[in-house]
Amino acid sequence: MPPAVALFTRDLRVHDNPVLHAAHDDARPGGPVVPLFVLDDAILASDFTCPNRAHFLAESLRDLDAALRSRGAALVVRRGDWVDQVANVAAAAGAATVHVAGDVSGFATRREGRLADRLRDDGRRLVVHADALFVVPPGALTPHARDHMAVFTPYFRRWVALPRREQAPTPRSLSLPGGVDAATVPDGAALCPGPTSPDRLLGGETAARERLTGWLADGLAGYDDQHDALGADGTSRLSPYLHFGCLSPLEVVSRAGKQAGVGPAAFVRQMAWRDFHAQVLAARPDAVRRDYRSRGDRWRADGDEFAAWQHGRTGYPIVDAGMRQLAREGWMHNRARLITAHFLAKTLYLDWRLGAQHFADLLIDGDTANNTMNWQWVAGTGTDSRFNRTYNVVLQARRHDPAGSYVRRYVPELAGLDDAYVHEPWLLPEDARATLDYPERIIDQDLARDRLRSARGLHR
Ligand code: FAD
Repeated sequence: MPPAVALFTRDLRVHDNPVLHAAHDDARPGGPVVPLFVLDDAILASDFTCPNRAHFLAESLRDLDAALRSRGAALVVRRGDWVDQVANVAAAAGAATVHVAGDVSGFATRREGRLADRLRDDGRRLVVHADALFVVPPGALTPHARDHMAVFTPYFRRWVALPRREQAPTPRSLSLPGGVDAATVPDGAALCPGPTSPDRLLGGETAARERLTGWLADGLAGYDDQHDALGADGTSRLSPYLHFGCLSPLEVVSRAGKQAGVGPAAFVRQMAWRDFHAQVLAARPDAVRRDYRSRGDRWRADGDEFAAWQHGRTGYPIVDAGMRQLAREGWMHNRARLITAHFLAKTLYLDWRLGAQHFADLLIDGDTANNTMNWQWVAGTGTDSRFNRTYNVVLQARRHDPAGSYVRRYVPELAGLDDAYVHEPWLLPEDARATLDYPERIIDQDLARDRLRSARGLHR
């Protein structure tokens, strides 16, 4: 049998990887396989690439290379035009088939289409595995006469009941065909120079599997209770590993679902949001820039307010803590993402696209579908049926960070304040306030709520 190419993209793992498994199967067990990753110049040159994700990617590729080497092969790494590079490697190896995971963004599907055409012209075949990146791939659940489901709850009901594929076995041994050099994985700085977040997670399947095992043993049972508690940090932090496919979402859901109780059930439900957003974006690729449902917003423009939000200097401690966590860790707690995104889009009434770009510049899990569709959900232009809902961020802070430990961790200027003031330092007596190196509130959130309501035509 001719060799097959396993073309890695966002599936940087050897466990439960349908792409690697199919390539290995094609080449017959023991036959040569080309595990290939192409650093796509179009992505590296785009505003989607950032130092945090570039470093995480490089670490994940190195870890994948080590896993492949321990099985007798190695990761073949190329850089340039994605389609040209894949076609060249497939030709050099004499491969008949290239296997790849199906992805959802407009960029990914166009790129995949170009590759399919090119390989066909060359007399080869592209096999797209729609189920490599998702538990339930886009298109698997569609309502009558529609291309996607727009409401999460009915989607989840069907998602959880759908039969799942078997997990793909991990090849025990692999071999590279002759005539294909592996090349070394560049480091993150070579892919995208610039500072990274000091406390970011380490990439790679090894770190991912350790975290998953620890999470299943120690965190999962308490998830229902703890997932909104900002200070407790009671979520899995698996999102970067899921984004880069260092973990199979199917394996995560299957292992979590083996445990009984409300914690595992709540976690599995949360995992379904990934697939929900993916199927929305797959059907509406323009939602990456355009409102999924326009509310006729005429967003304000204010560079100073935007900069204060970016740098965690809004004067609202819970907002500033979230933004500083993002800068420090390249990750932010979901509840803080909701609060900070709400603050930008609904309190400051600045365009959600600005906020989404800032998140994408820093988040290790920064993901076109999940970032965009969550931002739109919060801004009220997405799939949230209560699209004009507003949060009082101080009440959010008191509810989800009652002891102020989250704020104290990320806003050290406020660490010494009593609980009564940590979320509302503006209530401090004037002399104490004057000694704090912390900004005044840049906006009154009650006035801001009225502004939003009138902009959205709710005060007639
Ligand atoms: P857990 O609570 O442990 O959940 C487990 C997994 O479920 C997560 O790893 C994630 O894969 C999935 N998940 C949980 N909540 C969501 C959700 N609302 N939407 C989609 N998937 C979810 N998530 C990203 O993966 N990438 C993003 O770029 C991203 N941007 C976001 C932007 C905004 C404005 C908001 C409000 C949310 C965003 N999220 C994004 C969703 C969510 O905040 C993160 O997935 C979650 O905080 C990751 O932490 P965790 O792994 O500890 O999550």
